[in-house]
Amino acid sequence: MVTYDIAVVGGGPAGLSAAYAAAKAGGKVILLEKDESIAHNIRTSGVTWIDEIEKLGIKSEHYNPIKNYSFISSSNEVTIRGNTPKACVLNVRSTYQHLAMLAAEAGAEIMVRSRVTNVVTTPEDRRICGLKAKTPKGETVINCKVVIDASGFSSSIGRSLGIVKEWRRYGIGAEYECYCENLDHETWVLMVGTKYSDAGYAWIFPVSKNKARIGVGVGRPETYSDPLQKLNDIIDKKLRPLDEIRKIQPMELHYGFIPNEGPRTPIVYDRLILVGDSAGQSNPLVLEGIRYAIEYGRLAGNIAMKCVSQECNKEGLEEYEKIWRDKSQAMIKSALRVQKRWISLSDEEWNREIDILREMSVEEFVDFIKAEFTVGKLLKFGLNHPKLATRQLLGLVMKS
Ligand SMILES: Cc1cc2nc3c(=O)[nH]c(=O)nc-3n(C[C@H](O)[C@H](O)[C@H](O)COP(=O)(O)OP(=O)(O)OC[C@H]3O[C@@H](n4cnc5c(N)ncnc54)[C@H](O)[C@@H]3O)c2cc1C
Repeated sequence: MVTYDIAVVGGGPAGLSAAYAAAKAGGKVILLEKDESIAHNIRTSGVTWIDEIEKLGIKSEHYNPIKNYSFISSSNEVTIRGNTPKACVLNVRSTYQHLAMLAAEAGAEIMVRSRVTNVVTTPEDRRICGLKAKTPKGETVINCKVVIDASGFSSSIGRSLGIVKEWRRYGIGAEYECYCENLDHETWVLMVGTKYSDAGYAWIFPVSKNKARIGVGVGRPETYSDPLQKLNDIIDKKLRPLDEIRKIQPMELHYGFIPNEGPRTPIVYDRLILVGDSAGQSNPLVLEGIRYAIEYGRLAGNIAMKCVSQECNKEGLEEYEKIWRDKSQAMIKSALRVQKRWISLSDEEWNREIDILREMSVEEFVDFIKAEFTVGKLLKFGLNHPKLATRQLLGLVMKS
């Protein structure tokens, strides 16, 4: 029986990137994806930042550029306008298929419609040594030296080993990809307050000239309402600004879950790495996880490959966790602080919050929403913005 260096569970951006990096580093790699094709079920809205995603090799053919950012509440609104696009909305299917091509070209084996059902451990010391999966070729046992759990929200490997728990705080999003008769395809819109979502927000993310993803997200445990019901409701009622779009014709329904409480600790174990949503690596403020999944997927694949000639124990894999924490922990903490504030705002408070956002330049807004304010930028911001409320909001992303 073949023994793989690395077995990757999940063919989302984290798993595909881990498989690519590990295979490129010379490893014998297999990736198992339970769905019948890569990006078959889309569970994301695909918004990201052009600079960062291009650095990861995702070119403009895979996204629609965005240069304006609107916030709409029950009785207030602002559009922060930029001269050049900084954000973008990915064509999720083409992006993930591209990541799969990279992994395949590097030599990784990819098995679709292959659900990992169990982890195999050695009888003597219960160390991970493989996986059981239901594949199109029947039930299979895969021997491997390291498992990368990139199974997303379910953290299915960590959970089946009993080493991680179900997420306590998480977001659920329902979204239609729609034909839109009249769309400003350079502007994304976030709609806040109870008209749009009980605890969360609704969105319009343009994918192309006449196509957008229109969705509603809610946070658990703050609410147990169904985001799909709310989404149908706001589309049927054509709540502002959906009325301006005129005809809206859904063509795809997306539904997904995302952890919303910060990262798991730890994210490495003997012969096991957690990456992407499985580890809780996304920015919890705007539920942005794709670029982190790609970046840290590649990191996981590389560090795992550095260890395969040895025992692949926790100590050997810890470099991955350390590099990731040094780069991301502060951002996640900042984002959680703003999220805590935003999730508890009343409709009236949202109307006032929008006046605070109005004070920001596009550069300041982008740094704020990415939770990437540096000390230097904050000092400059303090000089530009005498209003205490604005400085206080920005202060939330700086305290780390
Ligand atoms: C509603 C919503 C909107 C979002 N919007 C954005 C956004 O605009 N921008 C952004 O950057 N991020 C967004 N995110 C977050 C982003 O989608 C995730 O952070 C990202 O997809 C994480 O990638 P991943 O590879 O870790 O997990 P996933 O993309 O979830 O991939 C996990 C894969 O593992 C497979 N799998 C699971 N269990 C098994 C198993 N046992 N065997 C085999 N395969 C298995 C699944 O089928 C899936 O394909 C959103 C999330 C949600 C829920």
